[in-house]
Amino acid sequence: MKNIAILGSTGSIGTQSVDVALKRGYKVTALTAYSNAKLLEEQARLLKPYKVALLDEKQASCLKTALKDTDIKVLSGEDGICECAAEEHAETVINSIVGMAGLKPTLAVINSGKNLALANKESLVAGGKLVTDAANKNGVTILPVDSEHSAIFQCLQGKPTNKALKKIILTASGGPFFGKTAEQLKDVTAADALKHPNWSMGAKITIDSATMFNKGLELIEAVWLFGVSPDDVDILVHRESIVHSLIEYSDNSVIAQLGVPDMRIPIQYALTYPERYPSPVKELDLAEAATLTFYKPDCDTFKCINICRDAINKGGLAPAAVNSANEEVNRLFREGKVKFNDIPNLILKGASAAKSKNTYTVEDIDETDKTVREAVISAVNRKD
Ligand code: NAD
Ligand code: MG
Repeated sequence: MKNIAILGSTGSIGTQSVDVALKRGYKVTALTAYSNAKLLEEQARLLKPYKVALLDEKQASCLKTALKDTDIKVLSGEDGICECAAEEHAETVINSIVGMAGLKPTLAVINSGKNLALANKESLVAGGKLVTDAANKNGVTILPVDSEHSAIFQCLQGKPTNKALKKIILTASGGPFFGKTAEQLKDVTAADALKHPNWSMGAKITIDSATMFNKGLELIEAVWLFGVSPDDVDILVHRESIVHSLIEYSDNSVIAQLGVPDMRIPIQYALTYPERYPSPVKELDLAEAATLTFYKPDCDTFKCINICRDAINKGGLAPAAVNSANEEVNRLFREGKVKFNDIPNLILKGASAAKSKNTYTVEDIDETDKTVREAVISAVNRKD
C-alpha cells in the first residue's frame, strides 16, 4: 500500500486526487485546504489521515471541535499546511493548492525528501530555480500532474534529459474565446470566461485559460521541468483537448500523448509512475472524435502568452512578478473590477513595480508578491 498526502484536497484537482486514491486503495496521511472545514471534515472521516490543516485559523478551530472524537491532528495557517506537506508517513505528496501560496508547501515536500506530484504550476513559475535546486539536492522527483506536462513526461518515457529532444509542443484548448477579436472581447464578463469548453476546473485556472495566461505559465513550467530553452517550447491550439502535448526529436519524429480530457489520468500516472494500472477514465474513441484540429495561437489578441515568454527569457524574479500580477488581476476580473481587454496591460504595469534580481530567495519572492499586488490594486483604483 502506498502512502500519500493531498494539499488543496477540497479543490478540483484535490477532489479528483481523493477519488484516485480511493480507487487505488492508497492510505492518505494528510489533507489540507484554505477554509472549507465542512468538506475537509468529510474527507478526513472517510480517509482517516494523521493530520489535516486549514489556512484559515477560525475555520481550523471549528474543524478541531468537529473532529474531537477522532485522533486526527488539526493544524492551521501556513505552518500547519507545511507540516502536512512534510507528514512523515507519506511517500508522495500531491500539491494541488492554487496560486503561489503553493510555493512554501512545495519546498516543504521537497526538503522532507518526498516525491512531489505537482499540479501547482505557480510554485514552479514563481520559484523555478529554488524548487529545482532543492529537488536536485534532495534527490526528489517532481512528477507533473498538469495534463500537458504529464503528456510530455509520458512521451519522454521518463528520460527528460534526452539530448535528441528538439522541441516541446504544448497544446492549448484556446478556451471559451477562441477565434474572437479584441473588439468582440471588450465587454465579456467573468461568467462568460468561466464557461470552459472542455475542462471543469477551479475558477482561477479557468480565467487563465480564457486569457491564455495559463499557457504562458505552462511554457515556464515546461522550461523548469524539462530543462529546455523557452525558444524550444511551441504552443499549438487544439480545440478538442485530446492530444495533450507533443515532443519533436532531432530526426523530426513527433510523439504525442492522447486521451479523453480527464485529469484522473495524469493524477494517477504521477502516483503510479513508472507503472500503469486500469483507471476509471473513459476509453478514447478516435472514430467518434473524427476530426482533430490545430491552429497557431493568436498572440496579438491573447497577449498573455508573450508576457510569460518575455518573463522567462528575462529570468530572475521576472516570472514571479508576472505570476503575482496575474493572480491579483485574475481575482479583480472575477470580481468585475477589471475589463477583459485590460488584463495584459495591468499585469505588465503591476509586474514593472517589482525589483529585478537574478538570484533570489523565498523572501525575495514574498516581497515581489506584495509589491506587485499593491501596484496592481493602485493601478485599478487610479483607473489608468
Ligand atoms: P481549486 O480552486 O479548485 O482548488 C484549490 C485548492 O487549494 C483548494 O483545496 C483550496 O482550499 C486550496 N487553497 C486555495 N488557496 C489557498 C491558500 N492560499 N493556501 C492554501 N490552500 C489554498 O483549484 P484547481 O483548479 O484544483 O487548481 C489547483 C492547481 O492545479 C492550480 O495550480 C492549477 O493551475 C493546477 N491545475 C489544475 C487543473 C484542473 O483541471 N483543475 C489542471 C491542471 C493544473
Ligand atoms: Mg494544463
